[in-house]
Amino acid sequence: MSWLRNMSLPLSEVKMLSRKDLTQKDIEYFRVKYGKRFVRALRAVEEGKVKKYHFRPSGTTKWVVQGDTRAYLVSPEVFCTCRSFYQSAVIAREIDMCYHMLAQRIAAIRSQYMAIESSDAERRRLYAQWRKVG
Ligand SMILES: [Zn+2]
Repeated sequence: MSWLRNMSLPLSEVKMLSRKDLTQKDIEYFRVKYGKRFVRALRAVEEGKVKKYHFRPSGTTKWVVQGDTRAYLVSPEVFCTCRSFYQSAVIAREIDMCYHMLAQRIAAIRSQYMAIESSDAERRRLYAQWRKVG
């Protein structure tokens, strides 16, 4: 799909996010670049809303971010099933990433996520909710 772009963070940002404690200067940098999305993403990470599922026996891994009303499936650096990503990134191209995608990046870099072991049978059940777009 041609509209899918890879939205990896620049190495300088990965380095900043790897620090144990973000400095006020780092936070200001991200706020200027990502606006409110960064604040929401950081809060989501701190509130434990980023989950990494590991399904057995297939070994499939999926990232999910719990939003205000439902959970969204995030393909790291590529896609999120929320309305904001669809409308603002895919259609309008105003942004590259929604805050769920940013939260996933922060959580992965800082190893600050909930790791959940589950089964493929459960995955099929969860997919029905996660994969809905909007
Ligand atoms: Zn999203």
